[in-house]
Amino acid sequence: MGGNAPLIGILALQGDVAEHREMLQQLGADTRDIRSTADLQGLQGLVIPGGESTVMDKLVRRFELKTPLQELIGSGIPVLGTCAGLIMCANTLTDGIEGQQTLGGLDVTVSRNAFGSQRESFDTELTVSGLDSPVAVSFIRAPIVTQVGDGVSVRASLPSGEIVAVDNGQILGLSFHPEITGESRLHAEFVGRAASFSPVS
Ligand code: GLN
Repeated sequence: MGGNAPLIGILALQGDVAEHREMLQQLGADTRDIRSTADLQGLQGLVIPGGESTVMDKLVRRFELKTPLQELIGSGIPVLGTCAGLIMCANTLTDGIEGQQTLGGLDVTVSRNAFGSQRESFDTELTVSGLDSPVAVSFIRAPIVTQVGDGVSVRASLPSGEIVAVDNGQILGLSFHPEITGESRLHAEFVGRAASFSPVS
């Protein structure tokens, strides 16, 4: 394990799976859509896509993936969560629908209805720590991070102050969608992490 083409699983119950798959394959990774626990075997990275976290949560539980995914995240596998995926990774969600659960793993608090309707969706350029020039990204009904725990670093904030990218070294959580604008550097960083991860089998 730890070769040049890491095997990345994309949670494929709902959301923008195809955009992530395409970008990861362009970066030289092997990908597998995750729909059942059998699909989790041997993965070196996990992507939780954008979509709708309320639906994703329900499907994850219906397909009996919740505990296996939590165990996988607990094994230290590199994770990339975008938008709804960030919500799924957050330990605390302040404005979920009734009964909504997250997988957790990332010690942050997230608000999923952070932007008013006027700013529901927008494109912008964002400075992200660790990248040497701004990224062009889309925000689509985006969550923001309202609290960050120990060991979690803020990688990007909007000019207005909202935290929109967080990283604990294992889980990279983004409010926005680089996979939609074709911005590949954050995916490349994630693929690099996955390449040096040995799955616990
Ligand atoms: N607001 C959505 C949610 O609650 C996320 C939107 C997105 O992933 N583009 O899941």
